[in-house]
Amino acid sequence: MKTALIIGGGIAGPVTAMALQQAGLEPIVYEAYEEAAAGQIGAYLTVAVNGLSALALLDAHHVVTEIGHPTATLSFSTSAGKHITDMPIGGTLPDGTVTHSIKRRDMYRALNAEATRRGVRFEYGKRLVDATSTADGVRATFADGTTIEADVLIGADGIRSRTREIIDPTAPKAHFLGIYGLGGFVTDPALHRELGLRPGVYNMIFGKKAFFGYFVAPDGEIWWFANMPRTQELSAQDSASAAQWRAQLVELLSADRGPAARIVAATTDDTFVSAFNQYDMPTVATWHNDKMVIVGDAAHAVASSSGQGVSMAVEDAVTLAICLRDIPDTTAALAAFEDRRRERVERVVAHGAETSSDKASSGLGRLLVRLLTPYFLKKAAKAGVAPLSWMFDHRIDWTAPALTR
Ligand SMILES: Cc1cc2nc3c(=O)[nH]c(=O)nc-3n(C[C@H](O)[C@H](O)[C@H](O)COP(=O)(O)OP(=O)(O)OC[C@H]3O[C@@H](n4cnc5c(N)ncnc54)[C@H](O)[C@@H]3O)c2cc1C
Repeated sequence: MKTALIIGGGIAGPVTAMALQQAGLEPIVYEAYEEAAAGQIGAYLTVAVNGLSALALLDAHHVVTEIGHPTATLSFSTSAGKHITDMPIGGTLPDGTVTHSIKRRDMYRALNAEATRRGVRFEYGKRLVDATSTADGVRATFADGTTIEADVLIGADGIRSRTREIIDPTAPKAHFLGIYGLGGFVTDPALHRELGLRPGVYNMIFGKKAFFGYFVAPDGEIWWFANMPRTQELSAQDSASAAQWRAQLVELLSADRGPAARIVAATTDDTFVSAFNQYDMPTVATWHNDKMVIVGDAAHAVASSSGQGVSMAVEDAVTLAICLRDIPDTTAALAAFEDRRRERVERVVAHGAETSSDKASSGLGRLLVRLLTPYFLKKAAKAGVAPLSWMFDHRIDWTAPALTR
């Protein structure tokens, strides 16, 4: 049985482990932190129908549907509170499943728990520092000085991937999108009643100074995120408190009509997610060498505004497992994986970068976006999901054999 070292226990890591197990390989996951730390950043994730469909091939989409909430519709408004249009976020799977939103921390924990339940071994506190190909496979070295060997190494180690650097020391670094993200959760029955929110509808407001999105969960909790355009990357040393970020955001949102400023003001410190930088990855020219490969954000981080980061990671995981299942030569299997994935993920990254640049622009650019977006959104809504069907309708066939180049 082929053995696989998976570096990173975030999203791509546990899903790749479950997919490889189903494909007949023996995976072990090595995570740098004591628990999946990436889940601590940000508020929540949207898992689109294409990602849920890929998870369903592993019988794992229940991980999202049991804890997350259906968010099948986008409803856009202007800063003046004028409704622009409603649009579906992808279609509906044959079993009735639609796009879901799930708290980041819940998603990471649930995926780790599900993979563990299936017998996948996780080693926490193991940070990859180096890896080399050997005659029979690959040897990984961790920060604690230990080494381990296997047939193949899969870097699911996120946007600051060490595996990516090992495969190609000249690989590009993450690119700052000119946006800070913030978010939070509010339980305020009076506010909820007053706003008359429709469950499952994701409200998006093109504010004058910040972009704001929110929806209400079935239990009445309001989930929200905001994007502030900023030219300077937030430094790791930034020490502004939740209260300071909240005050700044409330001030920006007060320029608009609608509930955004009140929702943020009602968010308490313990559920307020302070500002974090938003990134994507420019094209990574080299995804693999003879025995190592990168998947998920390590290979192609997509702007969070596309809502496709998780779905791309899951599609990668399933596709890689099919290639390693069917193509005995590891190097040929990794090349077949890249062939199947590169064009699609680069199209999704480009789409995400386009939607982010709308949010990042300031001054005249931002004014133009606010004036022109309603026209384009209405046009797109008339066409239903069709303009983005290439993104949402992608389905992977687990039974179709992978072929070499
Ligand atoms: C704020 C925010 C909002 C987002 N919103 C959405 C959304 O709505 N929808 C969506 O689909 N996507 C969204 N995304 C993107 C999504 O979170 C990522 O695409 C997804 O997490 C990628 O999964 P991954 O497993 O590739 O990387 P990660 O989730 O980053 O996991 C990487 C893991 O590798 C570990 N690691 C790193 N280096 C090492 C090392 N050297 N050794 C061992 N382990 C290591 C890390 O600790 C981490 O656990 C958002 C991202 C952010 C930051």
